[in-house]
Amino acid sequence: MARYANAKRIQLMIEGLDRFTATPGQGTTRATFSQEFRQGSDFLRARMLEAGLAVREDAIGNLIGRLEGRDPSLAPIVVGSHFDSVPHGGKFDGPAGVIAGIETAFLFRERGLAPERPIEIIAMIEEEGARFGGGLMASRLLTGQLDVTSLADIRDGDGISFMDALCTYGLEPARVQEAVLQAGSVHAFLELHIEQGPVLETHGEDVAIIDRIVGQVELGVTIRGRAGHAGTTPMGARRDALEGAVSVLSKLPTLARDIGRDAVLTVGKLELKPGGANVIPETVDFTIDIRAPEEEVVRDLLAKTRTAVEGARSLGLSTEIREQLYARPTLLSREIHAKLSAHAAALGLKSRSMVSGAGHDAMIMADFAPTGLIFVPSRGGISHAPEEWTDYDQLARGVDVVFAAVREMSGTAV
Ligand SMILES: [Zn+2]
Repeated sequence: MARYANAKRIQLMIEGLDRFTATPGQGTTRATFSQEFRQGSDFLRARMLEAGLAVREDAIGNLIGRLEGRDPSLAPIVVGSHFDSVPHGGKFDGPAGVIAGIETAFLFRERGLAPERPIEIIAMIEEEGARFGGGLMASRLLTGQLDVTSLADIRDGDGISFMDALCTYGLEPARVQEAVLQAGSVHAFLELHIEQGPVLETHGEDVAIIDRIVGQVELGVTIRGRAGHAGTTPMGARRDALEGAVSVLSKLPTLARDIGRDAVLTVGKLELKPGGANVIPETVDFTIDIRAPEEEVVRDLLAKTRTAVEGARSLGLSTEIREQLYARPTLLSREIHAKLSAHAAALGLKSRSMVSGAGHDAMIMADFAPTGLIFVPSRGGISHAPEEWTDYDQLARGVDVVFAAVREMSGTAV
């Protein structure tokens, strides 16, 4: 049982929001600015109002509920996450953090707590990138990492522009600049998220306090040979792109294992051309996703990966490597990490310090304001699927930590 948070109320909020899906019975599908998204936003607005918050929608569709501070001039503590989803995803990825914030507001109201510093609960758009690509769009726009002028060029898979979708959603494209936050306007950002991995469940622990988010590189690789007839080209006269690709791919996982230090490497996409049963492959395109907690490990694995790919040249093939993403590891606030850890301990929870292998809005916010990230267990480590599950009691225990930290950081007398 959680000490403060109301697991039943959390359950009703999670389930209530989950009614707004484009794929009932087949998981949560809530694309940014869709009809379900508007209905979800209205649902969250109603819960925020019940929790005593003053609610506003910013110029890009983020929903923000504010609990005024005794000193309204102080920068707020912002608590939240996103409420868009991947297609056929789960009901916890994103909403768990939004509802953790709203439940925190309910706890303030029920206890008659008056914070010195304002508290804002935020429900953000388009974290997954499922509609407009790229992902983390709200946090990147809020913090100026994504320039609003670039929005004019962003379209979804149906060719609908971000600006047109924003308009249909009821917002004014001419005002998007107003969403950008001023430097210093956020005192701290806190996000609760489901772990999306098996570690907490495996160890029987309640929460993880994240100290950093892994660095990540994404490469696009092309290995090119020469197409030819499968029957008439002798084995000694071939430049088979797949033969080269297979020799490279067979080495890559070992490179990551040998380096250790929590480095991971994944080839998730592979395409063979021209792709005929009786044609020697001319090109093989694939992606390589490299992640590690320490930048020197990322660089080391990246260098070894490049060498391995270039090894295909010994078979008379050409190789091309495109670096499509390079993100350094993101350190979160040590001070907030210590506070969250201390509150978890004081609440009698089993917690661990952990590195996040996934980026979240917290990763972007960390460059803008002191940021904390807390994970709650995911059953079976499953996410981005209808089976995604976190027990409501476990979620409530995570909310207890958020509540305790927000109470302290907002200067609320106990
Ligand atoms: Zn998420």
